[in-house]
Parts: sequence; C-alpha cells; structure tokens
Amino acid sequence: MKVTEHIAQANGNTQFSFEILPPLKGQHIKSIFDNIDPLMEFNPPFIDVTYHREEYIYKEQENGLLKRQVVKKRPGTVGICAAIQNRYKVDAIPHILCGGFTKEDTENFLIDLDFLGIQNVMALRGDAVKTETYFTPEKEGHEYANGLVKQINELNDGIYLDQDLQNTSKTNFCIGVAAYPEKHMESPSLDSDIHFLKKKIKSGAEYIVTQMFFDNQKYFEFVEKCRNEGITIPIIPGLKPIATKRQLNLLPHRFHVDLPEALILEVIKCKDNSEVKQVGIEWCIQQSKELQKAGIPVLHYYSMGKSDNIQTIASQVF
Ligand SMILES: Cc1cc2nc3c(=O)[nH]c(=O)nc-3n(C[C@H](O)[C@H](O)[C@H](O)COP(=O)(O)OP(=O)(O)OC[C@H]3O[C@@H](n4cnc5c(N)ncnc54)[C@H](O)[C@@H]3O)c2cc1C
Repeated sequence: MKVTEHIAQANGNTQFSFEILPPLKGQHIKSIFDNIDPLMEFNPPFIDVTYHREEYIYKEQENGLLKRQVVKKRPGTVGICAAIQNRYKVDAIPHILCGGFTKEDTENFLIDLDFLGIQNVMALRGDAVKTETYFTPEKEGHEYANGLVKQINELNDGIYLDQDLQNTSKTNFCIGVAAYPEKHMESPSLDSDIHFLKKKIKSGAEYIVTQMFFDNQKYFEFVEKCRNEGITIPIIPGLKPIATKRQLNLLPHRFHVDLPEALILEVIKCKDNSEVKQVGIEWCIQQSKELQKAGIPVLHYYSMGKSDNIQTIASQVF
C-alpha cells in the first residue's frame, strides 16, 4: 500500500514508522532483523531503508603511492526492502539518490523495485561524496531531487527514457521527498528551500519526511510556513533520540540542526552514555507525545542501526 493510503486508513490516529540502515558490507542480514523484530509490535505501516552511495578511499601500496578505490560500505538497500516485505508483510520504502546514478541507472533501479512489488520510494539528491565540497551529479544524472521525482513520475505514466518503447507498463510509485525545518545546509534561506520543495511536489511528490529536529516548535513553524505557501501533502516529522555525548557536536555538524539549551545541559550533566541514552529517550518521548497530541499522522524515527531506545520510546507513546 502507498504511504498516502496508510495515512488515509489510519483515521486520524498517529502511526509509528522508522528508518534503518543496511548493515556494513560483510555483515549478515540477521543484524537487520534483530533490530526490526522488537519494533514490529508497534505495527509500523512502513519501514524506510536508507541508500548509501559509493565512497572513495585511498590505500597505500607497497611503493608508498596511494591508490584510489571506490567502495560501497553499506550496499543492499533493494535486497533488504524485498526481505522486509517478504518476512514482515510490511511496506518497505527504499531511498533512491541522484548521486552516483545516471538516469539509466535510476530507470533500471525503479524497474527492479516495481517488479518486487515495492510501491513507495523516497527520492533524494544525496550529499557530496566525502572527498568533495559540493554535490556533483553524474554526467547523465540529476542535479536536484526534483529531476529524480520527475523521472519517477514519468515512469508512473509509462514514459521510459527510450521513447521508442511501445505499449509500456506504468509503475505506480508513491513518492516521498525530504524537507528541513531548520533549512537545508546549502540553502540561502528557509523560504528558498520551501520554494524548491514546492517544485518537488509539483513534479509528483505525495508526502514529505523531515530532517530530525529536537525542538517541536521548529517543526510546527515549518509546517505553518509550508501550509501558508499552499503545500497540502503530509509532512511526517523525523525524530532521533540522542544517545551519546559525542552527538552533541556530531548532530549539529552533520545534520545542521540546533539542539535546545535544556537538552544540551541535561546531556552535559550525564556521567556516561547510558545516562545520555536515558536523557535522549525521555526527550524524544516528550517530543513524540506533543506531536501525537497535535494529530500528526505518522512519527518517523531514525534508528541509525539501533532499535532498543526506539522500542522504549514507542512503548510509551503508541
Ligand atoms: C528524511 C531524509 C532521508 C534521507 N535519506 C538519505 C539516504 O538514504 N541517503 C543519503 O545519502 N542521504 C539521505 N538524506 C540526506 C539528503 O540526501 C541530503 O540532505 C541532501 O543534501 C539533500 O537531499 P534533498 O533530496 O533534500 O535535495 P534537493 O531537494 O535536491 O535540495 C538540495 C539543495 O538544493 C536546493 N535546490 C533544490 N532545487 C534547486 C534548484 N533547482 N536550484 C537551486 N537550488 C536548488 C535546495 O533548497 C537544497 O538546499 C536524507 C535526508 C532526509 C531529510
């Protein structure tokens, strides 16, 4: 079923969903199931699986020279989605990127998803690879997520890259896109971000998932701004419980989000990370309950490969 259908069927009840990362290359898929199993009692209508593009690493050779290697540390997004749908009978949502994909790669990726019975995709640009300052698209790829949304939507209309194809089959993807209540890091302003968000919707996006935030006010203000701009599709909030002291620096640096002073002070007071985890759980429960009270249709949790804290939060909220 499509995300939009899940929301319509929930009759105003807030639903629980979450996002997982494929395991590091070399690890067994069991590590994924071990994380998902304890969360199934909260009846997620869908589970997102992130996509991780290639990275460049430099290995020293015997002659002392460095050799560049292209590696994908977390492959397996499509396989995990198929395994989730097969094992749990729950909709799996693969993330799909502009980065590293030509339009032809994208089309073939989407054909695989369609054949597997996957009905939802999260369309993203992706970040720059670690060795680059700015995002560079593939020569025959998309520069922004908007182009990717357009391509998916065209496939939904049976329009393939090779326009000589006759009697083509139409896909039926429900397309999700990303948004940033505290603005995307490259964006000159929130208004400009919303301007481009509207373009993604015009191109066919049917729902939005936000970047994590730790202050609900930022989400509420963002939703109000979007509604005033005529955006009517669901805006699903992304939530992440803070779990380590290091994340006090890492999360603002990596995701360009602010942490509220009260949360920072609570974390600083903690003697170790097990105390931080508890603070993060309690903070996230408060955030979740407030969002639930406001009638938000789905709360989406970033598990980042660990489900124990998400399980504790869900048991208090759902
Ligand atoms: C819910 C969620 C899930 C994510 N999952 C993944 C994942 O699985 N894998 C991964 O690698 N990354 C993931 N990301 C990170 C995402 O790829 C990055 O944040 C990326 O930098 C932007 O992606 P986007 O789809 O928002 O890009 P876009 O919508 O393309 O926007 C990127 C920037 O360009 C600007 N912009 C857009 N269109 C134009 C235009 N025509 N001209 C000028 N400027 C423009 C926007 O304002 C923004 O600043 C996720 C992010 C979120 C919020």
